[in-house]
Amino acid sequence: MSVIEKIQSAGGKTAFSFELLPPLKGNGIETVYRTIDTLREFDPKYINITTHRSELVFREKSVGLFERVAERHRPGTVAIAAAIQNKYKIPVVPHIICSGFTREETEYALIDLQFLGITDLLLLRGDKGKHEKEFSPTGHRYATELQQQVNKFNQGFFLDGSQMKSKITPFSYGMACYPEKHEEAPNLESDLYYAKMKVDAGAEYLVTQMFFDNQKYFDFVAKCKENGIHVPVIPGIKPITLQNQMTVLPKIFHTDIPEAFATELRKCKSDAEAVEVGVEWCIQQARDLIAHGVPSIHFYSMMATQSVKRVAQAVY
Ligand code: FAD
Repeated sequence: MSVIEKIQSAGGKTAFSFELLPPLKGNGIETVYRTIDTLREFDPKYINITTHRSELVFREKSVGLFERVAERHRPGTVAIAAAIQNKYKIPVVPHIICSGFTREETEYALIDLQFLGITDLLLLRGDKGKHEKEFSPTGHRYATELQQQVNKFNQGFFLDGSQMKSKITPFSYGMACYPEKHEEAPNLESDLYYAKMKVDAGAEYLVTQMFFDNQKYFDFVAKCKENGIHVPVIPGIKPITLQNQMTVLPKIFHTDIPEAFATELRKCKSDAEAVEVGVEWCIQQARDLIAHGVPSIHFYSMMATQSVKRVAQAVY
């Protein structure tokens, strides 16, 4: 059953899902399993696994002589997805990104995923490199171009136009959207134009960037409908766990922290207090979203597994 079928078959109950990151290179998979063990009691309908491009780092070649090399700090998305699916029998959604990958590398990943029986994906452009002022493509420039590659693959064709010899299970996929506008979009309407393009070309659902103000999400969903986007727009939310996330998250994710929330966070004397405020805010967000009948809530669980657990305990 694909992600969208799982959500739609939940009988009107808001589904629970979460996203996790592959461990940093050198660490084992146990942290991933610990996160899942902590959250599996809430019956996640699926688990997303992020993908991270390589970054340029300086490595010492000989004393005082450095070379700049590309290093992937969080490798292993496809393997981790397979390990999770095997161990927990929970559907997995690996993220496929353009950033840092060539079209050919993407094709190889799609072939691997077919072998592994993983056919749900989230298609994204990916973040720009830390050294880049603006995104510079190694393969596709936009998620919609990656989508065309996946669509062609689904029809049984490789990049070079040659036909596959055996039948595949076509990939089902979702894509990203931004209630507060993507940082590079000139305006929200332009972003919506491309969101519609994604849906018209086969995205079965959209998942939002994290937001802390539900009204922005509700307004966005209304605008999606006005613009002919009728697939589920899955809200992505995150409990804040550090006081400084009040300023860090808006910088990274271009999302506002509502003043009422910021006021409470400013009063915190420690991160332990910020955790409590973060959990409480996220519970209120989740309750309100559920009351509005959202099909699913997607939790960004990075550095927040215990908080997500407390939110899920309160609302599911
Ligand atoms: P796009 O849809 O390509 O959009 C990028 C910009 O180009 C937007 O401003 C859009 O309006 C515009 N645009 C879109 N299509 C076109 C077109 N055809 N022509 C001209 N302009 C266009 N990043 C990672 O590196 N790894 C992850 O695992 C990851 N997971 C994420 C999960 C979710 C749910 C979300 C919301 C984001 C995630 N990101 C991840 C971050 C994401 O990759 C960045 O936000 C990235 O900058 C944009 O990705 P996108 O797929 O929305 O890009």
